[in-house]
Amino acid sequence: MTIKALLNPRSVAVLGASERASVGRGMVEALERIGFDGAIYPINPKYTSVAGRNCYASLRELPHPPDVVSFCIRNDGVLENLRAAADHGARAAVIYDGGFAEIGHDGERLQAEIAGICREAGMSLCGPNCMGVLNPPARSTTFKQEVRNPQALIGNVALISQSGSVAASLLADLRRFGFSLVVSSGNEAVNDTASYIDFVVDDPSTKVIATFTESVRNPDRYIAALDRAADKGKPVVVLKVGRSERVRAAITGHTGGLAGESRVFSEILKAHRAIEVEDLDEFTEVLAVCQGRRWPTGNGINVVTTSGGQAELILDVATSAGIPLRPLPTATREAVERDVGRISGDGNPLDAWGRGDFRSTMPQALRLLSDNPATDAVVFCSSDSVDNQALGRPGREEDYARLFAEAAAKSTKPHYFMSMRPGVMHSGQIRVLAEAGVAVIGGTRQGLGAIGRLARWNTPLSPARATKAAPSPDLATQRRTIHEYDAKRILAGFGLPVTRESFVTSLPETIAAATTIGYPVVLKVVADDIPHKSEHGLVAVGLGDERALVAAFDEMQRGVAALGTPIAGYLVQEMITDGVEVFAGVSRDPHFGLIIAFGLGGVGVEVLRDFALRPVPLRDGDAEAMIGETRGAALLGAFRGRPAADKAALAQCLYALSDFAAANSDGVQEVDLNPIKARTKGCVIVDALIVPRQPQGRAE
Ligand code: ADP
Ligand code: MG
Repeated sequence: MTIKALLNPRSVAVLGASERASVGRGMVEALERIGFDGAIYPINPKYTSVAGRNCYASLRELPHPPDVVSFCIRNDGVLENLRAAADHGARAAVIYDGGFAEIGHDGERLQAEIAGICREAGMSLCGPNCMGVLNPPARSTTFKQEVRNPQALIGNVALISQSGSVAASLLADLRRFGFSLVVSSGNEAVNDTASYIDFVVDDPSTKVIATFTESVRNPDRYIAALDRAADKGKPVVVLKVGRSERVRAAITGHTGGLAGESRVFSEILKAHRAIEVEDLDEFTEVLAVCQGRRWPTGNGINVVTTSGGQAELILDVATSAGIPLRPLPTATREAVERDVGRISGDGNPLDAWGRGDFRSTMPQALRLLSDNPATDAVVFCSSDSVDNQALGRPGREEDYARLFAEAAAKSTKPHYFMSMRPGVMHSGQIRVLAEAGVAVIGGTRQGLGAIGRLARWNTPLSPARATKAAPSPDLATQRRTIHEYDAKRILAGFGLPVTRESFVTSLPETIAAATTIGYPVVLKVVADDIPHKSEHGLVAVGLGDERALVAAFDEMQRGVAALGTPIAGYLVQEMITDGVEVFAGVSRDPHFGLIIAFGLGGVGVEVLRDFALRPVPLRDGDAEAMIGETRGAALLGAFRGRPAADKAALAQCLYALSDFAAANSDGVQEVDLNPIKARTKGCVIVDALIVPRQPQGRAE
């Protein structure tokens, strides 16, 4: 429980405090400026006093063990002093200097040593390679920046950033929100983002949690922290770097961690109700939206503007960003045309300039939109303004803001005041609106996108599918792969639709099976050690009669002999001549466990990388959404006289695959259903492969 000593200390020892201008002296002054009312202990053998305070020669001389030691010294002095701090009973430490895991081998060893000291002593540690901790409401700091205006820092955003400069950038703009806690966590040698999230979930001053993350240290703990935050009604906004290969390579050298496959990570965030954003603009807009007194409960956004051109631009940008702005329903349209003026376009965005008497038309327009049952959020966007404008009547900006605040007060729905560009805003307007509990947002893509993100966060997830099925005993095996025939029997047991087929070992059996199944048939080799049969010419499709079957059998026998790999036998299978080839599969992410994938077969997966991912188990609605979000999904619809594929059957197939994977979560390494034929009615798995998890990988 020493994390409290780190984040909300009652005493701070400043190691390396000095009379000269230095980080150490700065830290003492920062503590004074922020109004810290606990004990401050400057430590430096060269001084008897620093900034008018008694200065101690070493940690051992302190009258009491400090809550936290702020290491304002270089990395070569860290080990020795950390040991002294641990011996003297310090509860926590902040190490700012770099030269640890981020520089490679030697640094990693040093970092492991400091982590070991802390773990053994039960100390919390922020860093190394970080800027420290700032707690504005508690008026404490170990953050490596001067404090100029402590009051302005206070707010409800808890920021946990692995990058110190990102933290400093966000702290530079306090116009719309302040901070309940800021942790620049650096290399996270001991305390990690998950532990900080866990702390602020219970912190009454924190309303929203913002994280800038390079790598997740402990996936299980991280997910547990996200779940706890969601349960407590605190959104976790996640900006994760490492979406591109080149950035991932840089991160390994930077914070000394590994950034996992970013698409898997995105799905994990969604499944645990975190809000993922792609850049700092989106990040700050979500934090701004959270400042509103009311939060959106759906994505029915209605925008009001003061000009037609602006309305058109907003609609264009929103459309290309995938933000739905649904047209006004007829009743609202008619009311607007009657009370406000003629509508150009379909009323969303609504140009409410009307007859030019904006003071009366705007409140009317806002009321009508708020009354529309399909409206979840009302957004007002007039021309952008900034402080000290050169043009326009002074006070005009605040007037607009007041008009809007009055409308918001009369409504039960959240209202947002939006500028056309992110970051461009007028402090007078922010003041008026903040008092009214109305959030100020900026930029169509970022601002409206943020409303949509918070609305989605505010919508409960559909329940995850519960598995009733017992694990399949066939997966407890030493086999490296389970071949098509056995895999299909196992999967069929979980309700997955498979081809009609017979396992055979001789030519007479082969001929008999084909007669029963009916021509045309497919002939394949069945062997654990040949997972990709057609690579070796061991799949013969479209065999129309017995003559063709016999010829294929003979050739396949020769092929098997040439290959020299032992086989189990052959498979005679119905030939599926219709349907679109799709694939579904399960794979095990090293950090986040089983992931289910769906995509179009062939080039769709391999070349275009067009596939959808979700963690196992699926939630209700996931399968349909996965099918819908692949670009290739269009090929499943009806076109050029071809009827549409049975997407409902395909979705059922994905759910059954999820059930299988969930029931066998410990025993599955990989499943490959490639292809599945999506037919006009139903779908059928044509090829299957299961890779069991090797015993050493399994949980005890
Ligand atoms: P591989 O082990 O090489 O993946 P498959 O069993 O998937 O072998 O067969 C290769 C291809 O042959 C499939 O992708 C599919 O296009 C076609 N195919 C295989 N079996 C059938 C079948 N029963 N009906 C129709 N086409 C089939
Ligand atoms: Mg295949």
